[in-house]
Amino acid sequence: MFQLNENFQKLPGSYLFSTIGKKVNAYTQANPDKKIIRLGIGDVTQPLAPAIIEALHKAVDEMAAAETFHGYAPDLGYEFLRNAIVSDYKERGCDISPDEVFVSDGAKSDSGNIQEIFSVNNRIAVCDPVYPVYVDSNAMAGRTGDYNKETEMWSNVIYMPCTMENDFVPEFPKETPDIIYLCLPNNPTGTTITKEQLCEWVDYANRVGAVIIYDAAYEAYISEDNVAHSIYECEGAKTCAIELKSFSKNAGFTGVRLGYTIVPKELKSGDVSLNAMWARRHGTKFNGAPYIVQRAGEAVFSREGKAQLKEQVAYYMKNASEIKTGLKDAGYTVFGGVNAPYIWLKTPERMTSWEFFDYLLENANVVGTPGSGFGPSGEGYFRLTAFGSYENTLAALERIRKL
Ligand SMILES: *Cc1c(COP(=O)(O)O)cnc(C)c1O
Repeated sequence: MFQLNENFQKLPGSYLFSTIGKKVNAYTQANPDKKIIRLGIGDVTQPLAPAIIEALHKAVDEMAAAETFHGYAPDLGYEFLRNAIVSDYKERGCDISPDEVFVSDGAKSDSGNIQEIFSVNNRIAVCDPVYPVYVDSNAMAGRTGDYNKETEMWSNVIYMPCTMENDFVPEFPKETPDIIYLCLPNNPTGTTITKEQLCEWVDYANRVGAVIIYDAAYEAYISEDNVAHSIYECEGAKTCAIELKSFSKNAGFTGVRLGYTIVPKELKSGDVSLNAMWARRHGTKFNGAPYIVQRAGEAVFSREGKAQLKEQVAYYMKNASEIKTGLKDAGYTVFGGVNAPYIWLKTPERMTSWEFFDYLLENANVVGTPGSGFGPSGEGYFRLTAFGSYENTLAALERIRKL
């Protein structure tokens, strides 16, 4: 008789986006004449840049002839892409070698899978609010203890609250973690920390023997000079940090699927190399991102690709700036939106996150995301994304201003 992985039974339902969907559907059924503007889900809307489309077409044509056809990709990814990634790091002053780069189908899979190479006895620390994948993937593996419905917390997870009281900067926890998840610039808060503050985390991790899983999915949105684009800009990061990168937010690959993870060779437990472990895991369970898509990824680093994507990011960041100033003018307390495409606002008049969601849906026909869906410290906050069109963003703001 088969038995199930009981850890899955401990998981709370993932109600956030399904509850949002249900509420929006119910509202539109009752009010079919109202036009809803969605600034909720973190998905891009702009089409792929011309340099990427060109690379895709060319690679598709190569697949049509036996001489240029490509089957399984090499385990770690094609060298042309890994070399482009390494050059990109070099421009930031980070010395990464091609065999430290693991090409994948995206940062969500990598952020969920990376915990596999660590003992089930490790304790994880996460920011609160948090990208849910980090916690749920550890819960599935049996690392998080029991879930408490009242506090909405796991008994064996160290939570690092990030709120306006600490400027959304996570503090070193009282209990010592083994694995620390950091997502910077942050989803959902849209805030980030300075390079100096990040380097303090690197020193801390090296001191206590912890590993940092650094999710840099929003790196392309950084606009301030004192913010690190990679954790490897900090001295000592190669002995304590794994970095996750994605093509989803900087190049619109959410439906194309491509990412990569850096596991430095200096990162060791005793004489066991995490790089070798991840290579073994990757080679066993993953059969490579498509050739066509890796060629598209290469184009992201080309001169034309870079220029076009800079414009695309600027388009979204113009939305972010409109939302930020628009809400401020309307009297809201707002955060983020400077180094990330998310605006995190304090709900007015002590409304809960869900109360504000209903209020905004019913009175402005605008959909956002309740902060409490990302963790208990997100209560009383609300997330709007800059990923909509410019026209819709302005229209949504106009409606919010009139409330
Ligand atoms: C969007 C996002 C990613 C990217 O995921 P992909 O699987 O590469 O699309 C990773 N981490 C965070 C926090 C994100 O918001």
